[in-house]
Amino acid sequence: MLPALDTQALIENHYQDFLSDLTKSKFSGDIEYSYGSRLAVSTDNSIYQQLPQAVVFPKSLDDLSLIGQTANTYQTVKFSARGGGTGTNGQSLTSGIIVDVSRYMNQVLEVNAEQGWARVQAGVVKDQLNEVLKPLGFFFAPDLSTSNRATVGGMISTDASGQGSLVYGKTSDHILALTSVMADGTILNTAPMAIDDAKVLSQEHTPMAKVTQQLLDTCLGKRQQIIDKFPRLNRFLTGYDLENTLNEDLSVFDMSRVITGSEGSLVFVAEAKVNITPIAKFKALVNVKYDSFESALRHAPSMVAANATSVETVDSNVLNMAKQDIIWHSVDSLITEVEGKTVLGLNMVEYNSNDQADIEQKIAILSANLDSAENLGVIGYQITYDKADIQKIYAMRKKSVGLLGKIKGSKKPIAFVEDTAVPPENLADFIMEFRALLDGKGLKYGMFGHVDAGVLHVRPALDLCEPEQEAMVPEISDQVVALVAKYGGLMWGEHGKGYRSEYGPQFFGEELFTELRKIKSVFDPLNKMNPGKICTPLDSTESLVKVSDQKRGEFDRQIPIEVRSSFKPTMSCNGNGLCFNYDTTSPMCPSFKITGDRRHSPKGRASMVREWLRLLSKQNIDVNALEHNEDPPSWFERFRNSTDKRVADDFSHEVLEVMEGCLACKACTSQCPVSVDVPGFKSRFLSMYYQRYMRPAKDHLVGNIETMVPLMARVPGFINFFLRQNWVKQTIRKTVGYLDTPILSQPTLSERLNGDLTTQFNLEALQKLDPSQLAKKVCIVQDPFTSFYDASVIESLVSLITKLGYEPVLLPFMPNGKPQHVKGFLTQFAKTAKTAADLLNQLDELDLPMIGVDPSMVLCYRDEYTKTLGAARGEFKVQLVHEWLLQLELPKVNANTRQNYALFGHCSEKTALPASEQQWQQIFEKTGLSLTAVSVGCCGMAGTFGHEASHIEESTGIYQLSWQQAVSQYQPEQIVATGYSCRSQVARFEKFKPKHPLQILAMSLS
Ligand SMILES: Cc1cc2nc3c(=O)[nH]c(=O)nc-3n(C[C@H](O)[C@H](O)[C@H](O)COP(=O)(O)OP(=O)(O)OC[C@H]3O[C@@H](n4cnc5c(N)ncnc54)[C@H](O)[C@@H]3O)c2cc1C
Ligand code: SF4
Ligand code: SF4
Repeated sequence: MLPALDTQALIENHYQDFLSDLTKSKFSGDIEYSYGSRLAVSTDNSIYQQLPQAVVFPKSLDDLSLIGQTANTYQTVKFSARGGGTGTNGQSLTSGIIVDVSRYMNQVLEVNAEQGWARVQAGVVKDQLNEVLKPLGFFFAPDLSTSNRATVGGMISTDASGQGSLVYGKTSDHILALTSVMADGTILNTAPMAIDDAKVLSQEHTPMAKVTQQLLDTCLGKRQQIIDKFPRLNRFLTGYDLENTLNEDLSVFDMSRVITGSEGSLVFVAEAKVNITPIAKFKALVNVKYDSFESALRHAPSMVAANATSVETVDSNVLNMAKQDIIWHSVDSLITEVEGKTVLGLNMVEYNSNDQADIEQKIAILSANLDSAENLGVIGYQITYDKADIQKIYAMRKKSVGLLGKIKGSKKPIAFVEDTAVPPENLADFIMEFRALLDGKGLKYGMFGHVDAGVLHVRPALDLCEPEQEAMVPEISDQVVALVAKYGGLMWGEHGKGYRSEYGPQFFGEELFTELRKIKSVFDPLNKMNPGKICTPLDSTESLVKVSDQKRGEFDRQIPIEVRSSFKPTMSCNGNGLCFNYDTTSPMCPSFKITGDRRHSPKGRASMVREWLRLLSKQNIDVNALEHNEDPPSWFERFRNSTDKRVADDFSHEVLEVMEGCLACKACTSQCPVSVDVPGFKSRFLSMYYQRYMRPAKDHLVGNIETMVPLMARVPGFINFFLRQNWVKQTIRKTVGYLDTPILSQPTLSERLNGDLTTQFNLEALQKLDPSQLAKKVCIVQDPFTSFYDASVIESLVSLITKLGYEPVLLPFMPNGKPQHVKGFLTQFAKTAKTAADLLNQLDELDLPMIGVDPSMVLCYRDEYTKTLGAARGEFKVQLVHEWLLQLELPKVNANTRQNYALFGHCSEKTALPASEQQWQQIFEKTGLSLTAVSVGCCGMAGTFGHEASHIEESTGIYQLSWQQAVSQYQPEQIVATGYSCRSQVARFEKFKPKHPLQILAMSLS
């Protein structure tokens, strides 16, 4: 039986006292110390894992200050600020308290387009800011691959930059002023000031004066050493940026420059006033294809010299991974194959201008150069001027790190030497030597980066569950440190130092490193702020964090290899944070979007299950055997376990809570670069959890819905009468926790078809037909929701098939099993799936097209059936309506029935079949109808999720995120939606039910 799991990760006493004082203070934010909340921030995108004591979520500058003030009586309480948690080197990890500014302090406060600045809170996501700026014709220029989840506070603290940095600079180049909070709660307002004013200020008796004094001493006093020491690169030697704290002629002093890039080791950044940049009117992107990666690297500097705005590169490993991902679908026509050649390197060369002629002239020069550059390895190029297409290419490039995580086998690309920077002219030679180093160790890796700035991203593939491979991390690190030094570069081109802080003394040299420690001493004398990162105060005996410190592999390897491989997607999550995508029109993780709680994200859920597997392994539980337990505990045992107060803090309850919040929308199954597939492991978890505990009534209701509904539909009037009564609604809500129970279709489907003999199913009769007769038949595979609650859609489908000259055959309703799978009734699901698969395989032998209407049910035949039944699933194919229509010649509709329709796609369908919206558009176009695909995320219904009383707030909130506003843009009769859930959700909130697009076709075709 599943045992109760004690986490034993107690919070240290002084932290408990501090948190209790903070609770009693005026602190208005959240304070969380559940094991799950701590776990959710114990990793980032790095190889490290560190469990904090607690997580606090301040709501304001005052809250941040209160944290510092309250901690003044606790000398050993430590903090680390956190934003998106996308650091690649453990920058935000701590064993102290995480101060997460991203949950609440995430507002764009003010924009002044005339003067070209914006004021934001530190937790604003970079793309969120750009979305506000775009209509005004501006953007926040420093770009980074994680722009849809990294916060401005995180960008400031790592001095982030990326594509286009030669022209657009780094984050520090765009900071006009900062409001920050020091370790003792003092609020600092920093902005550039005349050096003479700074000197006057430094004489005062304030914390600000003390810090100014030290910075002046260091930056003026050691100016020459600083200039001599730092390589002349586009990337500065951040943490701390001693050079740029003063301007070139030493007339201006800017304390913000030293805070920028300090990785939270000096202050909490609360607000920033940032410079905003006008969006160039015209853009062009030239995708240059090469016969080798080396050719791409060697050719890049000449394109920079030819005034390109940016030059990005990817190698063939990255390209090949992208080609196998759903994202390639969006760029395949923009980066086509070259006949008879293999593309082994790609440079993406961008030109920006406000003058179209200027761009065209530059492109003409580049084209002439490329046409004659065969001897330089150029094998082809493509030009695009379309801004949306350019964005698609960059989205592919931005996803590449995550995609590398998909590499087969247990060795996964990891970040630790991943952002070296060398002078661009040295890049090709540096990379050749770097490759030789990795090749010499037999390691695989993918490479991509910003060749214009000499920054290359390299992630060698290692399995950190193997101690010998873990030992290679510091070894390779040391060798790469030596290599970058040889080529006059930096180990940290843009991601910051984090656990690589141990190399600080080597890079700065003893004299300047001592200056860093003096600066740390005046900001944070007790080493409370992100201790161990960058440097320690001068008098401190505490040490710096090291590359060899505790890694996630140490935890993962405690899980037996068989369990790890059985839970592969869960184990593969590399924390890149793509699932934190803030964009409300993206389907990725609606539950995270609405809760803002990182536990309720694919990453959070994967982390919880990994830890759950580890704790079970520590108790010598064979999880694989437990899952297939033939003799589960009795009802009485489960009742006893559920009522036993002593195990109230079983960690499995915490895991259950985060699984319950998942809508099973499956966006993470296809959009996460490693296909983390939460619904898959959620149902496995539930099946084991409920071996120990009693299931709630609503689970039984959902699990049995496909058996109950056909029975209820025999007497729809009677059932509907009761479902409409308020007292019945209240009773269902109170007893089963279910609300807005849908009303059965009246007339029922069979009444609508009115005994239509042509639609009736008879397997034997079908088997006797000759091929020409069979070629006319089309089988309709029913699902419970459309057939019993939205019967008019099936009626329309019958009509559409007939109008197109085919003979519809309505298969008898048979359960699909999806609701059982969602609720973790896996044994029952396997039986249901086998029965359905057997019948569908028989029909498949007749080579009959089989079509289903509801995306999530049809996709279940493809994904969950394959995973559960393996080879026993057979080869049957159930198509979605549009997949079948796409192959047909379609007649044109009557000109006077034409109108513009708006397609609201189902999120599971859009993520699993990214071409689906476009294909519906093609179908409509063929018939002379027009269809616009509307950009929306999840509707919030997701099967029965939105009907569960415990989820009504989230379901409503998710609907409001993107659907509500988008629906209001159209007339009800224009809106079509492919999902039954989506149509029901609109009906619930808008009081009209959109049609399925097939209904429009059935109506319009004569
Ligand atoms: C796939 C991938 C691609 C990446 N590509 C790029 C890239 O192109 N360019 C680039 O520059 N970086 C890149 N990064 C690194 C990372 O995204 C950046 O460093 C980013 O700026 C971190 O922002 P965040 O909000 O996630 O910060 P976090 O990871 O939460 O924190 C980063 C550091 O900032 C500190 N911090 C965060 N908020 C505050 C605050 N309010 N006050 C004080 N300190 C704070 C933390 O303590 C920590 O030291 C990439 C990372 C990944 C996973
Ligand atoms: S779940 Fe996927 S998208 Fe989210 S952090 Fe993990 S690997 Fe990245
Ligand atoms: S299935 Fe949907 S709600 Fe659940 S974790 Fe994945 S993306 Fe989030």
